[in-house]
Amino acid sequence: MMNVIRNGSKELIKDINRFKVLKIIREKHPISRVEIAKLSALGMSTLTYIIEELTEQGYIFEIGESTSTGGRRARLIEFNKNFGYIVSIKVEEERLLVGLTNMDAEIIDVMKIAFKRHASPESIVSKMVKNIKLIFEKNEKSLADLKGIGLLSSGLVNRSNGMVIRSSLLDWSNVPISEMLKERFRNIPVMADKNINGYALAEISKGEGKESGNFVLVSVGSGVGLSVVIDGKINYGSIGGAGEFGHTTIAVDGYLCHCGQRGCLEMYASEFYFENKGKELLLLQPNSGLKSFKFEEVAEQAINGDEIAGQLVDEMASYLGHGIRNLINTLNPEKIVIAGEGMKYGSLFMDKVRQVAQNNFFSKVGHTTKIVESRLNDDAWLVGGSLLVLTHIFQLPIYQVTVGR
Ligand SMILES: [Zn+2]
Repeated sequence: MMNVIRNGSKELIKDINRFKVLKIIREKHPISRVEIAKLSALGMSTLTYIIEELTEQGYIFEIGESTSTGGRRARLIEFNKNFGYIVSIKVEEERLLVGLTNMDAEIIDVMKIAFKRHASPESIVSKMVKNIKLIFEKNEKSLADLKGIGLLSSGLVNRSNGMVIRSSLLDWSNVPISEMLKERFRNIPVMADKNINGYALAEISKGEGKESGNFVLVSVGSGVGLSVVIDGKINYGSIGGAGEFGHTTIAVDGYLCHCGQRGCLEMYASEFYFENKGKELLLLQPNSGLKSFKFEEVAEQAINGDEIAGQLVDEMASYLGHGIRNLINTLNPEKIVIAGEGMKYGSLFMDKVRQVAQNNFFSKVGHTTKIVESRLNDDAWLVGGSLLVLTHIFQLPIYQVTVGR
């Protein structure tokens, strides 16, 4: 993201101190003033001033707590996670997920809204606007408390101006999705990123990130996604496009991908493979019980013992395993975390994926790379969309505001 660094000034130092205090309270609440002073290395008078200001603004409040010996009550500072609300939206191929969260990215409600495949950006934005209002009404919250909107979409997204540069799944190019929403919600920050980076934010703050800041997240299901997390931060690449792992080549001159290339991993290690290969297999064995090539249907039929479904799942797993082997050999990561809607059926194919992926360059020298399943549930996408905005709202104030205001 293009950020312009602010000039040093008293005002800037004040903002940085305020940020420091708020960050400590967000991470460690409830917490005593003495503890905040220790962690922030700020003097008591500065701290008192900042705490008063933050209390007035509604970010924090004080709670009393009895000590174990009874008697004296120590005052603790609590983060007010309900001082406002964030709307998090995930744009899927034929569906919008609209979530309402508090200021700690905890989900309050989720609405699912279907739309026609390849619907125009304008029609999707009006669905967003309508349902943002609806979700506030439904939960008896005031729209005046909306503090920000986080958008997650497939494809290549310019994070600095919230533009979907290209999404072949949605058939969008150069859609200024953040601007379109900002026109309808003045003075509200709107941040956008691609789906998988949202999920990675959720992993960083509520999942794997609690143990390690270095991991690679792979999503499996209707497509293949990747986010690389280094020292607790997502690697975005040159134009925000790092992680187009699904469009790395696994089969030279293979199946044609929606991106225009041939042989992309996404055509082999996701639901797309079921359709690509399934159609060929059904010609040879037309009496299979397969009714569609949706992930759920193929997985269920494989469980029921359908031969073609079983073969499709097994081969998809092998391709995914090879893809992950390539990742391990390229990045030598601490850990691979696998997520996505396909993982509901992970028990069907993860053994195969591990078996193929673990046969990598490093296994020859006795080093095993951990491959684990994400412990977060499907809400993680919307949690991540919310974190996208919260990270912006609570960012270190050394940058001039260039987006979202
Ligand atoms: Zn592709």
